[in-house]
Amino acid sequence: METVFTKIRAGVIPSAKVYEDELCFVILDINPVNKGHLLIITNEVYPTLADAPDEVLSHLLVIAKKADAKLREVLGCAATNVVINNGEASGQEIPHLHLHIIPRYDDDGRRLTFPKSRYDEGEIGALGKRLEFD
Ligand code: AMP
Repeated sequence: METVFTKIRAGVIPSAKVYEDELCFVILDINPVNKGHLLIITNEVYPTLADAPDEVLSHLLVIAKKADAKLREVLGCAATNVVINNGEASGQEIPHLHLHIIPRYDDDGRRLTFPKSRYDEGEIGALGKRLEFD
């Protein structure tokens, strides 16, 4: 399957690539939340988290740690948001698994928070039971 990211990896679409290995590559997002916003993208096309092998998923977080350190070192950001839009309804535009690593600064005015809701009496415990997994 071809995606925007496979075209970037093949060099058909230009990008600013900052890292690559046998499982993933990292580019600058063309429309950054803050400058330096990175995308860690799997070399193989896995549309969502559920489609990717565990060893690839583990590796992505290791690379996220390195990307986070580099952003702090070079840009002096105070924090990062590490985000996966996992499926179309979550806002995923490109069905090819990727992590966003977004540099953040104190009082930068960016908002990645969601409006929060509440549980009815007893609902959280009942739902917790239904969602238990091994
Ligand atoms: P998502 O909504 O999680 O699928 O994110 C897709 C991201 O890819 C968006 O933040 C886009 O700005 C970014 N994007 C789309 N096309 C390109 C491109 N050609 N180069 C770099 N980033 C891109």
